[in-house]
Amino acid sequence: MKRSYIVDVLNSKDIDKEVLVKGWVRTRRDSKGGFSFIALNDGSCFNNLQIVVDGDLDNYQKDILKLHPGSSIAVKGTLVKSQGGGQSVEVKADEVKVYGHCDPEEYVIGKQRVSFERLREIAHLRVRTNTFGAVTRVRNKLAKATHDFFQERGFFYINTPIITASDCEGAGEMFRVTTLDHAAVPINEDDVDYSQDFFGKESFLTVSGQLALECYACGLGNVYTFGPTFRAENSNTSRHLSEFWMIEPEMAFADLDDDADLAEDYIKYLITTVLDECAEDMEFFSKHIDKTIQETLIHVKESKFVRLSYTEAIDILNKSGQKFEFETNWGNDLQTEHERFLTEKEFKKPVIVTDYPREIKAFYMKQNDDGKTAAAMDVLVPKIGEIIGGSQREDDLQKLDARIKDHGMDLEPYWWYRDLRKFGSVPHAGFGLGFERLVQFVTGMDNIRDVIPFPRTPKSAEF
Ligand code: ATP
Ligand code: MN
Repeated sequence: MKRSYIVDVLNSKDIDKEVLVKGWVRTRRDSKGGFSFIALNDGSCFNNLQIVVDGDLDNYQKDILKLHPGSSIAVKGTLVKSQGGGQSVEVKADEVKVYGHCDPEEYVIGKQRVSFERLREIAHLRVRTNTFGAVTRVRNKLAKATHDFFQERGFFYINTPIITASDCEGAGEMFRVTTLDHAAVPINEDDVDYSQDFFGKESFLTVSGQLALECYACGLGNVYTFGPTFRAENSNTSRHLSEFWMIEPEMAFADLDDDADLAEDYIKYLITTVLDECAEDMEFFSKHIDKTIQETLIHVKESKFVRLSYTEAIDILNKSGQKFEFETNWGNDLQTEHERFLTEKEFKKPVIVTDYPREIKAFYMKQNDDGKTAAAMDVLVPKIGEIIGGSQREDDLQKLDARIKDHGMDLEPYWWYRDLRKFGSVPHAGFGLGFERLVQFVTGMDNIRDVIPFPRTPKSAEF
């Protein structure tokens, strides 16, 4: 007999039909009348399927009474209307086969509430909890919605390299990739001789697929990438990981306004999809993680995002009368406290801040005519702050070269990037959205370590 998934069984109208389900026991409750109720979960949806096992079953004493949370079983039985409240159907078991028992002395999940901190130490098992099952299903839906959104709009999915053999991505600290023997590194005039390394030059894990993506945008038009990125910065915050996933679209013949429009549409599309298609999981987040999460998402979906320049933002912050830890002088980067003030207190909706001082932004961002600012944008959302960073790219070779030199960098490694500005240069723009920040935003989870299966952070890569 073919196995059914619990998500389908719970929605099924096939009363009195035989079903076969397989999953993990969440709870077992024995009734005085000599039968047991098992709550079975197979991961296919949030809700458990109730199994009723009669005491007459052959292996009732031998097996059923030894089932504990975490045990894995197969149940063949009849789908019946449920007597109790809480579920509309249940399965009356004819046969229960045990795959694996689970020792309740050692297995902590399912007994009492286990803290998220403790669950991080047993990340190989935490997906069996309500919270991590729900987070993982929502994360999956957001990934699917991402592809749907861009594909529906004619964007091509590009796989940009994970190993980059030049450090010209210009964002943050990078992890080195090498096959050199640490104990006997070849030295050449006091420096490590990377010509003897695997790629013949220094190489790193990517911090962004953008530069490679720009090449493809300048040929295919609209493209996007969705892949892992790595940052070796030592930031132990609830919003930073050393390995995270990023979605980066890039559009040819587009300016900063087009970029902001795309970002706004994309975030609204993601929210709509999750609210429509992950209702049970979202219900759980509202009840147990963040009471206002659904309201917030509906509000964001229905709001026109505020757009204002960095200069206006600084002005608002300075006039706010609010005490901040970091100064808000023109020229300083916005800190999370400032970002959250703007989106949570001042406007109470997402805010797109544009035109930052060029000195605090990357070399590739398009310079504005004022000689001071660059066509950059950050999208700020409640509770998270920056969720997207993007810009229109500099498409003028002379200006690009000047910025590269201003940053104290050599032109030579950028020869291919500069070529794009020599051969049919076009205005183009794009952004990067941190996938885990998105999952945090949508689920209301406080810590970014709890929205990725196996988080990598400084001093932590166990699993
Ligand atoms: P922040 O200032 O918040 O550290 P950033 O400005 O360094 O971020 P960008 O280089 O603009 O980040 O990267 C684009 C997006 O990737 C960010 O808007 C954010 O959503 C996400 N992101 C950046 N760094 C991290 C990280 N260490 N962990 C998880 N997501 C990140
Ligand atoms: Mn940024």
